[in-house]
Amino acid sequence: MTENKYDTVVVGGGIAGLTAATYLSRAGGKVLLIEKNNVCGGLVNTFCRNGFCYDAGVRALLDAGIIFTMLNDLGIRLDVVKSPVSVGIGNKIINIKDTGSLSDYRNLLVKFYPDDEKDIDELVRIIRKIMKHMDVLYGIENPVFKDLVHEPGFILKKILPWFPRFLFTVGKINRMKTPVEEYLKNFIKNPSLRDIISQHFFKNTPSFFALSYFSLYLDYFYPKGGVGRLAEVIHDKLLSLGGEIRTNTLITEVTPSEKLVKDSNNIIYRYNNLVWAADLKTLYRIIEKGNLPSETVKSIEETKEKMLSCRGGDSVFTLFLEVDAPPEAFAEIAHGHFFYTPSGQGLGETHRKELSDLLARSVDLKKEEILSWLGRFTGLNTYEISIPALKDPAMAPEGKTGVIISLLAEYDLFRKVQEAGWLEEFTNELESRILKVISETVYPFLSDKVISRFSFSPLSIENRVGSSEGGITGWAFTDSMPVINKIQIADRAVLTPIPSVYQAGQWVYSPAGVPMSILTGKLAADRILKR
Ligand SMILES: Cc1cc2nc3c(=O)[nH]c(=O)nc-3n(C[C@H](O)[C@H](O)[C@H](O)COP(=O)(O)OP(=O)(O)OC[C@H]3O[C@@H](n4cnc5c(N)ncnc54)[C@H](O)[C@@H]3O)c2cc1C
Repeated sequence: MTENKYDTVVVGGGIAGLTAATYLSRAGGKVLLIEKNNVCGGLVNTFCRNGFCYDAGVRALLDAGIIFTMLNDLGIRLDVVKSPVSVGIGNKIINIKDTGSLSDYRNLLVKFYPDDEKDIDELVRIIRKIMKHMDVLYGIENPVFKDLVHEPGFILKKILPWFPRFLFTVGKINRMKTPVEEYLKNFIKNPSLRDIISQHFFKNTPSFFALSYFSLYLDYFYPKGGVGRLAEVIHDKLLSLGGEIRTNTLITEVTPSEKLVKDSNNIIYRYNNLVWAADLKTLYRIIEKGNLPSETVKSIEETKEKMLSCRGGDSVFTLFLEVDAPPEAFAEIAHGHFFYTPSGQGLGETHRKELSDLLARSVDLKKEEILSWLGRFTGLNTYEISIPALKDPAMAPEGKTGVIISLLAEYDLFRKVQEAGWLEEFTNELESRILKVISETVYPFLSDKVISRFSFSPLSIENRVGSSEGGITGWAFTDSMPVINKIQIADRAVLTPIPSVYQAGQWVYSPAGVPMSILTGKLAADRILKR
């Protein structure tokens, strides 16, 4: 058994773990980052196949006052371009240019739901207000990444005038935590209209978070070379600072009483501090309590119970296409980041009661019933379509285009179909249906031009990054959240009841995503450095 000793071991080489490890290395510690896959990045990942490059996880990035501030602070250069967004229903598509595009969105909705004009105007009024709150929330470089000792001007000129407005905004956010589907019922009568606005968000997304998206559409950017470049540049910085990285290493045991973690080959890594930047259910499942004090064991057990009783949030099914048509053919229709709903009818109960009824009878999962449900699910859903070559032409071979099409998908459905023994047939069918719907509506030339296709399901995501229920942004939105969900106490999100163990990433704060994963990575590093 080999043994290695470090000031800090970071488990999980996603964007959160990379951030934590890089800051700890910059401070001079002996740091080891451990990642189970052969590359770091986790859900911030770009891969290439036959000359086509695709983003496996997040399709474009939002700064949120965090990403660029962190990159500047670390002295990292990242070449980026804007990632403009289009929104479409049926054959009407709008390109979002600036805040004025909110009127185009209004007109788009009115065209489809002319009887609901008043309700739509109320929605637009609320979104406009939220946009102002977002300007406050993200309108400052996040102070967590600033050197406040050496930049006193930042406190005087930026933080002090901003802080009262921040507190006011936080108050507003906390009053808008109702799930968006419920919230919309307050002023929108038409269920189809409510669906069209809300169905591409995770189930029960807090209303502020969901309705802030119009504002966020304006801020998406794309690293040249793909989203995964963000992880790569931090990875390179970490190595240049003397940090050590071990890939292809799966941690299977954490023994806090002896301050060690063990990998699947029984290799032991000793630490003074540990940052767990991976799935939290996994952490609590693999803890060996050893001779920890009984009070500590009790609070670990309580936290474990809470974590295991909650679920990861909605997952995603993604279809990747190699297409023998130039990017210009797609550019004529919409931008390279496109939220598209083929039908104005809305999903209704398709992805809720209908699906849960189907799953409840899953012992004899009937193929015909599921396939007929799949027809409605793919026909009425909202798709996120991403075309990397429209943002960076180098992402596909000359004259060809890689297309990424995804929709939110329920982990349990894939798991049960797998148990029933026909997962391959099911995913093949789902791929075909998505391709059919998209070809019959928005890209009529598509189906004849597909050279090759493949897909990732919630099960692939679970396999690749080890995330519970294939969750892509941490926990499902439920009443009992096992982690902190208030921005004003976000700094406590990195604490655990386990001695010398900190946590970071999408599972430690809700709602999460790339910026929050980076922020918690930095906060975990700060806690360790303060000690
Ligand atoms: C399709 C899709 C779209 C998205 N869209 C957005 C968006 O628009 N905006 C946004 O902000 N976010 C979005 N996200 C979410 C965002 O990508 C993630 O929330 C974020 O990248 C999570 O980073 P992380 O470091 O916390 O976790 P991860 O990326 O999951 O990293 C965890 C790492 O730990 C490793 N690991 C796990 N277990 C072990 C173990 N036992 N031993 C060693 N290593 C281990 C994994 O392999 C992985 O590399 C999207 C994600 C997907 C998939």
